[in-house]
Amino acid sequence: MSKIIATSVIKGAYKIFKRAEKTLKECIEKHGKDQKIEFPDTGYYLPIIYSMTGIKVEKLSDAEKVLDEAKKLLPPVPDEKLWLPYLGGTLDAGIATLWMEEIIEAIKYIDGPSPVDGIWLGAATDKIIRERGIEFVDGTAPGFAACVGACKDSKTAVKIARELQEKNIYVFMSASTDGKTMAEQLAEEGVELGWNTRLVPFGKDITSTIYSAGFATRAALSFGGVQPGDYRRMLLYNKNRIFAFVLALGEVDEEKYANAAGAINYGFPTIADTAIPEILPRGVCTYEHVVSNIPDDEIVAKAIEIRGLKITVEKVDVPVAFGPAFEGERVRKEDTYIEFGGNKSEAVEFLHMADSSEVEDGKIEIFGPEVDDVKEGDVLPLGIEILVYGRKMQEDFEPVMERQIHYFVNYATGIFHMGQRDINWVRFSKEAVKSGFKIKHLGTILHAKMHSNFSNIMDKIQVKIYTNPEDVAVLKKRAKEVFRTRDERLRNLTDESVDTFYSCTLCQSFAPNHICAVSPERPGLCGAYNWLDCKASYEINPTGPNQPIKIGETIDARLGIWKGVNDFVYKASNQSLESFSAYSMIVDPMTSCGCFEVIVTILPSTNGVMAVNREHSGMTPSGMKFSTMAGMVGGGIQTPGFIGISKYFIGSKKFIKADGGLERLAWMPKALKEEIRDILEERAKEMGMEDFLDKVATEEEAETEEEVLEWIQKVNHPVLKMEPMM
Ligand code: SF4
Ligand code: ZN
Repeated sequence: MSKIIATSVIKGAYKIFKRAEKTLKECIEKHGKDQKIEFPDTGYYLPIIYSMTGIKVEKLSDAEKVLDEAKKLLPPVPDEKLWLPYLGGTLDAGIATLWMEEIIEAIKYIDGPSPVDGIWLGAATDKIIRERGIEFVDGTAPGFAACVGACKDSKTAVKIARELQEKNIYVFMSASTDGKTMAEQLAEEGVELGWNTRLVPFGKDITSTIYSAGFATRAALSFGGVQPGDYRRMLLYNKNRIFAFVLALGEVDEEKYANAAGAINYGFPTIADTAIPEILPRGVCTYEHVVSNIPDDEIVAKAIEIRGLKITVEKVDVPVAFGPAFEGERVRKEDTYIEFGGNKSEAVEFLHMADSSEVEDGKIEIFGPEVDDVKEGDVLPLGIEILVYGRKMQEDFEPVMERQIHYFVNYATGIFHMGQRDINWVRFSKEAVKSGFKIKHLGTILHAKMHSNFSNIMDKIQVKIYTNPEDVAVLKKRAKEVFRTRDERLRNLTDESVDTFYSCTLCQSFAPNHICAVSPERPGLCGAYNWLDCKASYEINPTGPNQPIKIGETIDARLGIWKGVNDFVYKASNQSLESFSAYSMIVDPMTSCGCFEVIVTILPSTNGVMAVNREHSGMTPSGMKFSTMAGMVGGGIQTPGFIGISKYFIGSKKFIKADGGLERLAWMPKALKEEIRDILEERAKEMGMEDFLDKVATEEEAETEEEVLEWIQKVNHPVLKMEPMM
């Protein structure tokens, strides 16, 4: 451990301390000590401080206390002649730096300059953390690169960003070098920035680097079941589960050094493209801590090696970059060369089983014009027919695989896909067409990805693509009949009609004791996996996260308790859960990891419940925001009175059936009501309450529990006549 580094880190930390002290003092003078301080839409306060100390910074006076603690952590600047053999003081200075920067950034939300400005996004909301967090759960994203500073030119910035994206690594950007930032360099080159493309510009100020550490911290709190104040577990969780690293681009000044020291605490090493002093010995990080002077074209590979990250990238033979990181990229109208469907032409996509003799693996045919036969701005009809044969293939799996078309096609840069079945919409960008992308490449992608993802059940895959109106019309007619049968089958699929449920333990990498028991009428709480998905997934990967659960003897039909399910859950939850009721939110409800789309909780005085979705950032009648409730429900523990569920489960016959069912629902956000209106109306009709939905209050009718009570009395909500809930 070199004394130069210790000196730089500690000096940097003192500089940031001076800044934090001054900013906080001025803010207190202006607004007083009781002024509220917070990041937008989060239940984690200032998350790094909260997770490390357990302190909820809510007012400036709280921040003052934390700043005092940070100061105590700062060691004296070491004597230049002194040799320090260990990292101790440097690491402490790094931690103090993160706390102080968190205070500086949070004050910006009070006094400006606003962290959200132009391309800059500032703090991520809990909604983003949860949405993105699931990619860290299922392995779509192995980690993130915190890019600090700017590259030597914008072309290099694009190269590094693309390389990281192709490896599915998130790119977080903060701080500047000589006034330039990497995010601005990317913007100059016309690269689309934002959470969707995984290229995330946090801020230009060095202090905005804490949003990267904040992301990691909140992942540990929301998915790892780490308790606030348990800093050791939070840091270990990150070291073991979040594969992140810092890329120091351009000159590294003392403040940047202090941030690098903060990152080392998380096990995140720093890789620099300039010649800065290295910290090679192992200790906190898996391998080296700081490695310097790495050329730009080797820096990504080096970072992956040093962080100990294993990455497999499969090659799909198309002339554009391809991978999950490109999924969120849109193709704007003015960048479009040609488009298909989307109300502009007839389109349909349809995957079905066929006899072995009918399927020639790898055969891709186009019936109708190719890209070369049309001109810029044209619209073509599109019919995609995928024929599959596999000895283990079942009709039930067809829709599961068909839904993947959307993701696979979007993985290609410059190709945009939306919708499914016969409401699909595809665009090719001018760039993609210029690079040589043809309609037949859709077939290349689908063939390659279907094979690699479903190798266990599909032996042969053939793709037919139609771009002439007659053939598309014929395919559409055929497909629609099948779609109808599929919907019918799904409607008739009830919990009682099967003897096997499926487990999902995907989220155990974040919430070690959590397990979803997925039944035909109760999808996984993230909304991403229903019973059919899990069944297919089990066939594809028999040792994977979805295992069959023989439900066995019924213990309580009303509550939804079965012996087989209980036995399974007991084992799979590391003996922490003994009983699970599928149909109750009060008696041994199912647990939540943190991915729930909706939280349902009781409004005691109304005798009913409210449901709130993740997107709703406002207050709810329970007196809590979604984010606060999420903090109480997650982590794989049973919380009677609360459940985390998927949106569609609200429309299920089994929705809190034992507690009274849908009739209990007294409040939900307007946007959620609209989003699932169809299924709720259908369900209400079945219950013989056609006007039920109008009786459910939204934020427009009631904001507090008292107002909900007034509302349900006014409209004579059925809950008034129901038995007490508890
Ligand atoms: Fe996680 Fe449950 Fe969704 Fe599986 S079904 S990914 S365990 S939330
Ligand atoms: Zn989850």
